[in-house]
Amino acid sequence: HETRTFHSLRSPAPLPPASTPLSVTSYVSSLHLRRPPPPGLAAVIESGTGRRLTYPEFASRVETLAGNLRSRLGLSKGDVAFVLAPACLEIPVLYYAILTVGAVVNPANPISTATEISRQIQLSRPVVAFATSASARALPGAALRTVLIDSDEFRSMMMTRGAPSPIGSAAEILQTDPAAILYSSGTTGRVKAAVLTHRNFISITAGYVLRRDSEPERATPPVGLLTVPLFHVFGFYFSLKMVALGETAVVMGRFEMGAALEAVERFRVTYMPVSPPLVVALLKSKDAEGRDLSSLEVVGCGGAPLGRDVAERFASKFPHVQIVQGYGLTESGGGATQTVGPEENQRYGSAGRIEQHLEAKIVDPETGEALGPGQRGELWLRGPSIMQGYLGDAESTNTALNPEGWLKTGDLCYFDQDGFLFVVDRLKELIKYKAYQVPPAELEHILQAHPEIADAAVVPYPDEESGQIPMAYIVRQPGSTLDEKKVIDYVAKQVAPYKKIRRVSFINAIPKSPAGKILRRDLVNLALSGTLSR
Ligand code: AMP
Repeated sequence: HETRTFHSLRSPAPLPPASTPLSVTSYVSSLHLRRPPPPGLAAVIESGTGRRLTYPEFASRVETLAGNLRSRLGLSKGDVAFVLAPACLEIPVLYYAILTVGAVVNPANPISTATEISRQIQLSRPVVAFATSASARALPGAALRTVLIDSDEFRSMMMTRGAPSPIGSAAEILQTDPAAILYSSGTTGRVKAAVLTHRNFISITAGYVLRRDSEPERATPPVGLLTVPLFHVFGFYFSLKMVALGETAVVMGRFEMGAALEAVERFRVTYMPVSPPLVVALLKSKDAEGRDLSSLEVVGCGGAPLGRDVAERFASKFPHVQIVQGYGLTESGGGATQTVGPEENQRYGSAGRIEQHLEAKIVDPETGEALGPGQRGELWLRGPSIMQGYLGDAESTNTALNPEGWLKTGDLCYFDQDGFLFVVDRLKELIKYKAYQVPPAELEHILQAHPEIADAAVVPYPDEESGQIPMAYIVRQPGSTLDEKKVIDYVAKQVAPYKKIRRVSFINAIPKSPAGKILRRDLVNLALSGTLSR
């Protein structure tokens, strides 16, 4: 079976030995020492207000806040700090300060309900919560000490040095210590709390550093606009990575297309980590017209499948913007595959090659047999960026991680002959039409490419004769007269008969998770009961 393991084709990035005590923040300091960010450069900018912190200001706020987290709040190594706030200037400072102390960053979606939060807190058992005056309302009050990050208390903790901690009081941070607890999306099954270590983030960052250092130095460092939420692994990791690599991170609260494009223009943004719905929206909307987006070089797309047709159309509408495609999971601490460079970026439909530090397998879900290139099966991943496990959930941990350290991703994938990954769909979301498996993502890609379709999702609909039939939810472009028959015929021309759409419903918007995943379970409920409730 080992011969059927796919190894990264990229040269390995040097990693410190796993046993060397090292926190991700000390690792980042060493990167800054080796290649100092220009002192006047903004580390973080808040898009709405234009508030910013230069690198020296950022470093000093992190150090001051970390000291005060220790001395005023008594936070120490291993303590969990719950963070429930929309993206703002303070969030990256807070993340870095918590990590500096050796405490664990535990961010959650600020629009979570009180019930969702109580389940999350039950899993992660935080000693303190950081929230805004608005988001704090969903917290369990007196039961959890809460610090408001929009308060004078917090500003003073960032700006005013407290009593110095006694020498030697800070415990040594090991790479195997937990750095973050991130909640998996929970689009299938119950919420799980993935434990990610300092080592996980160091290993991913080392790959980025190697890549940056092998490219010609830019005249000015990249400016990244974080359109993805900072509590999800994609935005969480990128907020760390942008600072680690001496870039400028532009953060924005609630995502809004007009505001995002305005930020691109105003801050000369060079790249944007995005989820596929944003690519689809940019392609279909008129928001970009009249905007100067000439600074934009790259959109880095991941988190959900992006159709080949959509990618091609995007490339012809925005010829100066490349699409870097990547694939990753909360459980892989960030990106596990990506395309690198102009040639790879044009392999639309592929999620790129596996990262330097990982190895991969494609496993037949029924027989457990490892498969070769071109064959579809479940993707397994192994390497130093894979999570430690799920907190308080040994059963889920043992299902996801096997004794040899392989993470079973639950995604149906294949590698081509050149080692490029193609993600077909989540195994659990395949539609079973008669004896056939229909991947909804494939049909969604076809539908999304239709000029009169603004957005689309495909779900299973129960059928006595066939088990399930593929049903499409369609959002029409303004003015479109598309009807059920036209939709069915359009898809039927492009797919094998068993994959045909057999039922259509029109809807105003497709429900999505904050990371851009279609909430297919909600649509199944809608189809069955007429309501969108979860
Ligand atoms: P999360 O833990 O929320 O990041 O979700 C991880 C899941 O998102 C993966 O298991 C995939 O199902 C999906 N995903 C992430 N990136 C991609 C991609 N490039 N193409 C298709 N699916 C993706």
